[in-house]
Amino acid sequence: MIGGGDTRLRLSTGDVFRLPAGREHPWLESLYPRGKRLDASLSRLEMVRWRGAVFLALIFISLAVGFRVAIAPVGDIMARAMPEALVERASNMVLAQLDLALQSESRLSQAEQDRISAEFGKLLPLAPARFATTDLHFRSAPAIGPNAFALPGNDIVLLDELVSFADDEDVVLGVLAHELGHVAEQHALRQIMRSAVIGIGIGLFLGNEDSVLEEIVGFGGSLVLMENSRGLELEADSLSAGWMAEIGRDPQALVKFFKRLSDECGDLCDGGGMLASHTSFRDRVRAQSE
Ligand SMILES: [Zn+2]
Repeated sequence: MIGGGDTRLRLSTGDVFRLPAGREHPWLESLYPRGKRLDASLSRLEMVRWRGAVFLALIFISLAVGFRVAIAPVGDIMARAMPEALVERASNMVLAQLDLALQSESRLSQAEQDRISAEFGKLLPLAPARFATTDLHFRSAPAIGPNAFALPGNDIVLLDELVSFADDEDVVLGVLAHELGHVAEQHALRQIMRSAVIGIGIGLFLGNEDSVLEEIVGFGGSLVLMENSRGLELEADSLSAGWMAEIGRDPQALVKFFKRLSDECGDLCDGGGMLASHTSFRDRVRAQSE
C-alpha cells in the first residue's frame, strides 16, 4: 500500500484479491508474504490521520517559532565569535566600496576636521577599551545626503552633508556619539550575522531553490531585522545621550534635532511606520524623554 495504492494479493489460483487504499487490515498482515510485512508497516506510518496532521503542524510551528526566537541570540553569538582582524578587514572593504560608488573626499577644511576629531576623541574613552581605536572618516556623498554611519568594525563615516545640514556642533557630536554607540554594541556586525542566520534558516527549511515561498519567508526575515534595528537605534540614542552629558555637551541635542526634522518635513522624511527600515523620529524623541 506504499504511496496510497491498493493492496493486491495474487492468489495461486491466479485470482487477484484487491483491497482499496486507506484501509488498515492488520489481521491480513499475518497472511502476507514475508517480504511484504515491512511494506505494510511502512504503509501504516504513511497514513497520517488528523491527529498526526495536527502533531506535524505543531512540530512545524514550534520549529518556526523557535527559529524566530533564535535569530537574535544565535546571530549575536556568531558576531562575538568573529575574529577582530576579519571584522576590521570587512569594515575596510565596505568603506572602499562606498568610496568607489558613492563617496568622495570631504570638502571640510582641515581645521574643521581636526576640531570635530578632537571632540570625537573625548567620547572614545567612554566606550569599552576595544572600541577606543574607532576611526572617524570624513567623506562627502550628496547621493546619500545628511548622514553618518557605523561600519561593521571600528569605523565611523561622517558625511559633510550632515555637518552642513545640522549646522550645530552639538548635533554633529550627538550623532557621532550615537554612531559610537552602534560601534560599541557591534550593531552592524550583529545585524549582518542575524541576517546570515535568517538566510541559513531559510535554506534549511525550504532548500536552496528560488521559489515564491522563499521570497515570502525572506521578506518576513527582513521584517524581523527591521524590528530589531528599531531597538538598536533606541539603544544607540540612549548611549549617545549619556556620553554627551559626560563630556559636558548637550545630551538633548540629538532629540532636538529629530524634533526639528519631524516638525519641518513631517511624515515625508520621517522614516518610521510599519514597514519602514528606520525608527520614527517621534518614537526616538519619545523614547529619550521617558
Ligand atoms: Zn543609528
